[in-house]
Amino acid sequence: MAGSRKIVSARELDLLRRLLRERTEELERANERLFMATQVKSEFLSHMSREFQRPLDRIVDFASCLRDGAMGEVNSDQRRGLEAIIIRGMRLQRMLQRVLELCSSDLGMAVFLPKEFPVHDVLDRVVKRLRETAKKRGVTIDAGCVNGEGTVTADEGKFSFIIEELATNALKFSPKGSRVTVRLRDVVANGLEERFLEVAVSDQGRGIREEELEQIFKSFEVGGGVAAGPGSLGLGLALVKHFVDLHGGRIAVDSRAGEGSTFTVLLPKGGPPVRMARTPRVLVAGLEGELLGPLLARLREEGYDTITAGGGQDALDKGISMAPDLCILSLSLPEVGGIDVCLRLKAHERSKQIPVIVTAPLPDRSAKVRSAQAGADGFFALPAEMGELLLKARSLIAQKLNYDFLKRNYEIAASEAFTDSLTGLFNLRQFWLSLEHELARARRYRRQCSLAMIDIDFFKQYNDWHGHLRGDEVLKEVGALFGASIRDSDIAARYGGEEFMVIMPETGRDLALIAGEKLRRAVAEHPFPLQETQPGGILTVSVGIAMFPDDATTARELVDAADQALYRAKRRGRNRVEGHGAPDKG
Ligand code: GH3
Ligand code: MG
Ligand code: MG
Repeated sequence: MAGSRKIVSARELDLLRRLLRERTEELERANERLFMATQVKSEFLSHMSREFQRPLDRIVDFASCLRDGAMGEVNSDQRRGLEAIIIRGMRLQRMLQRVLELCSSDLGMAVFLPKEFPVHDVLDRVVKRLRETAKKRGVTIDAGCVNGEGTVTADEGKFSFIIEELATNALKFSPKGSRVTVRLRDVVANGLEERFLEVAVSDQGRGIREEELEQIFKSFEVGGGVAAGPGSLGLGLALVKHFVDLHGGRIAVDSRAGEGSTFTVLLPKGGPPVRMARTPRVLVAGLEGELLGPLLARLREEGYDTITAGGGQDALDKGISMAPDLCILSLSLPEVGGIDVCLRLKAHERSKQIPVIVTAPLPDRSAKVRSAQAGADGFFALPAEMGELLLKARSLIAQKLNYDFLKRNYEIAASEAFTDSLTGLFNLRQFWLSLEHELARARRYRRQCSLAMIDIDFFKQYNDWHGHLRGDEVLKEVGALFGASIRDSDIAARYGGEEFMVIMPETGRDLALIAGEKLRRAVAEHPFPLQETQPGGILTVSVGIAMFPDDATTARELVDAADQALYRAKRRGRNRVEGHGAPDKG
């Protein structure tokens, strides 16, 4: 015990605890989001099949019955019309089928996780799946790796999809008795520097016409050309192109009429170059002159920008505000020591993902342990371990950039699924998920939760006078006002057309009425363009408030209660806030 007290001070322990708590909370939030994303996806899938697939099946069936004379004779014109409906319907059926397949597969449209794996295994699996189809069509598949058992760093699911899609396409356009070849080999390009894995898929089909070549990688744009063969939709190739782009690769097609086509994909062997608009930045703090100079020089040679800091406070400020991709801190930083700076960087929301390396003049076991406890990602003695430090720096920076890339991808995907594109607030689906979630919590901990339903007054009139586009601008501004007026813990959503919702967790009726009044006033006092034409000369909203558990016990009931309160606010003259259950004098 005495030993451990010497290593970690009470203050450090406190920071560590906070760090742990933050990480745990972060993990919980990530899990929650993942859960919601999964729900959204399955909801979407069942929606798609319910709304589109079944009616479509009925249309095709019905048209087929009519054509076959099941409901009386049809003349030749009618028959041609029905044929057209059937063919188009079947094409749509296949397209839907394909979209559903793609959505439900493990392709992970939003996730991109490159790792190193042997290409041979993937190729074998894909070819095994295709053999059956090839046999039926009387086509030979000839697949192999040209130079050995190489590996590639890529997203395995997407890599496999690329090969399978290209090979499936090739099979589709192969005449009986012909051959499809799939060749994987290592190539060096870019003037010797970069190594690529080349995937070449060839068929001996009829070839692609010049004017079609430009279109084939665009989704849904393929008319009567190559990709519009049986079962093809011009969707797969667009995805292939997208995935190749994600890997920082290239795709090309070479085709001769009557002789066949070859699709060639080049993927960087070492994985996707981390495509950052900026150069990675390294912060170096507290190193002395004869060490600092060479280290900065080596870092710049590696292509990094460098920032320097003198004391610990300076390092902390710059670490948080300048978003470096790596911090190299001296153990003996003036003011705040290197380990303390590391702890604080790892505890701060804006800097916690930045890797940290601590340095000391000599190997120091106890300092090494303490830095590790503070969350440092490496500890090196300088100048002795300069080489090791640089190697570690390179891999930490690569990880950090990859993390940023994934995070951005995730955020884009998540924001598209959860938010309303016009206002940026949560969308309807997310509103219901959030409300259910908050009510479950309120129920569990016996807390209150209020809901405000807001509707713009006489909005139809505004649209009628100034058009829908101006109306949309107003919706955007109203959304921004709500976003800015609510507390951090409140949730604002667009419920539909010109109706909004604000969920207020941990909030009882009195506070909710005050919050509703704040929202009402924010809109009434905002100078909306052209609002003079509204009744009273200003654009206003009405607000209805309901509260859990007094007014309702389920999400559905709470929304109904807020809706009733809103209705009362409208009836009593608009531009006002009403609570549910208040005595109706009107
Ligand atoms: P009140 O609520 O005060 O009773 O009157 P209102 O005119 O706002 O009510 P109503 O619900 O009859 O009309 C809502 C109008 O909102 C209809 C439509 O013109 C407009 N609206 C709904 N959704 C949108 C949208 O997305 N964009 C635009 N520009 N207008 C929308
Ligand atoms: Mg309305
Ligand atoms: Mg309205």
